[in-house]
Amino acid sequence: MAINRDIAVAAIFGDPVGHSKSPAMHNAAYAALGMSRTYAAFRVTAGNLAAALRAIPALGIIGVNLTVPHKEAAARLIKDLSGEARMLGAVNCVVNRRGVLRGDNTDARGLERDLRDLGCELRGRLAIVIGAGGGAASSVLACIRLGASRVVIANRTPARAAALARRFSAKGARAAGEPRGLDALMDSELLTDARLIVNATSMGLTTGRFARLDYDSTPTDCLFYDLIYSREPTEFMKPAVAAGRHAADGAGMLVNQGELAFKLFNRIAPPVGVMRAALFDALGRSISAR
Ligand code: NAP
Repeated sequence: MAINRDIAVAAIFGDPVGHSKSPAMHNAAYAALGMSRTYAAFRVTAGNLAAALRAIPALGIIGVNLTVPHKEAAARLIKDLSGEARMLGAVNCVVNRRGVLRGDNTDARGLERDLRDLGCELRGRLAIVIGAGGGAASSVLACIRLGASRVVIANRTPARAAALARRFSAKGARAAGEPRGLDALMDSELLTDARLIVNATSMGLTTGRFARLDYDSTPTDCLFYDLIYSREPTEFMKPAVAAGRHAADGAGMLVNQGELAFKLFNRIAPPVGVMRAALFDALGRSISAR
């Protein structure tokens, strides 16, 4: 599509950004709707984030997704934040409202919707979130919203888990979060109660191996959910499947947060299934696979 003044542009800012599947998902939805809009990827370094955000109204860009390393920095730079972006201290989408930027976050809602679709009933149950970064914060919020009675936050750096737990308890969350180290993943007394274990770290992706986890101590209805997504089951998921547990990766969360962002940017919902099909195609995965 030729970019000219009649074409509205949405975008993603990140560094790196070349791996992002968001352009494929959003552009598939534009094509399906026959809209004269396009979605571009911009490599924006951390040092250039403030200037790039200022350029959004100047260039008339309708909305921007943010990925690594910008989500937390943007929450400090943008004045008008949704309650969710404020609570998470992170922005994953910026909407240009007639020249005024509004920061929002669709990650927690994206995960919450995927967990519902997977039939993960958390009411009165224990969830364990591994990690203490932005993805973990969204995961804790999704678990609280789904009614978990306890959320344990297990992180390599326990002080970061404690800081995340404090953030939720300060906001009055009912099941605020109990900080632990990664030793929690070998605590059979804890694992025996877990209905959901979420990996919100890059472990397995960067290190090739996941931390030691006593999969066999979990109940048979325990769902292992990895925020990482790829063509093949992840290092976190493989032993869960081998132990006969249900496991899913973060592709559904990514599609859901993208659909929510699309609606915020374009004020119209994407056609059902189009963004998911585009993602699975980009990952080289069959659409019937979860
Ligand atoms: P982040 O803020 O940088 O946090 C990274 C987390 O990983 C920290 O808790 C860190 O622990 C931990 N970690 C990193 N390397 C580790 C290692 N070798 N051993 C143990 N722990 C390690 O990252 P994020 O933004 O939360 O993203 C986390 C993952 O979720 C990424 O893979 C990202 O792509 C994915 N994600 C997916 C979606 C989706 O839509 N599917 C959305 C958001 C994020 P320390 O605190 O000890 O450093």
